[in-house]
Amino acid sequence: MNQPFNSASSVRKYISILKCPVCGGQMDAVDPQSLACSLGHTFDMAKQGYLNLNRTTRPTPGHYDKKLFAARRSIITGSRLYAPLHEAIVRILAGRVGDHASADLMVDMGCGEGSHLQEILRRFEPSNWVGVGIDLSKEGIRMAARHYADGLWLVSDLAQAPLRDQSAQVVLNLLSPANYQEFRRILVPEGVVMKVVPGTGYLRELREALYSGSKITNYSNAKIVTLFRQHFPEMEVVHLQYRQRLETEQLRDLVRMSPLAWSAEQAHIAAFTNRDALEITVDVDLLLGVNH
Ligand SMILES: [Zn+2]
Repeated sequence: MNQPFNSASSVRKYISILKCPVCGGQMDAVDPQSLACSLGHTFDMAKQGYLNLNRTTRPTPGHYDKKLFAARRSIITGSRLYAPLHEAIVRILAGRVGDHASADLMVDMGCGEGSHLQEILRRFEPSNWVGVGIDLSKEGIRMAARHYADGLWLVSDLAQAPLRDQSAQVVLNLLSPANYQEFRRILVPEGVVMKVVPGTGYLRELREALYSGSKITNYSNAKIVTLFRQHFPEMEVVHLQYRQRLETEQLRDLVRMSPLAWSAEQAHIAAFTNRDALEITVDVDLLLGVNH
């Protein structure tokens, strides 16, 4: 049995949580390969097993291509760069959501190629979590559906998530833009949102190498934290900082997956990747909010 079939069966299994992105109505399976609402808005399942429910004309930024997602997947699943972050997220969430018997939804808003969500869910096993990944990038979602057949992978704008109100126990939003109104709408009462934002030292070594000689402005996440607090006044912040050693090929992948490199000079990129290994800093804040 191949993986796309399994992904497609995930779509059918969890069809009750989907809403039509055009009219907001309940979706039903009309045949093995498509879904429709009662008004007849129809959406075909891609052969890789994901659903494209995007109704906006906003284009995906051009840099987010197959090469970027392959590099991202390789770093997230093949190195330990993000492993302590995944472990921290699981520890915090486990303390919050406790044991749950039903099949609860963990939705990653802005999931890219799905590896962060997969790495987090893997650490919960055995569990009843159902992973749902939403991203505007078809390339990212296609890769997620191909590699992670258990999940439900949806191409959609985060501002119009195709999920019914109060359907998710947990919303993840990792190093990615947010839409707090939508987060609140899809969360059950007392549901939890976990947003990860970069701190000042995040990937410091990469930034310093790529922009050496020019003025590096110190990044601050203060505005993001303030906005988060407006939506979740009783928020908690957990600061996490560590370093992980990456080897040559992983440093190359880090450059390939990083928007920082898009405007960098080739000579600076070469100088960064042309070494046996380097310790890379991960410096992040984990913002935790509850949907009261
Ligand atoms: Zn409809």
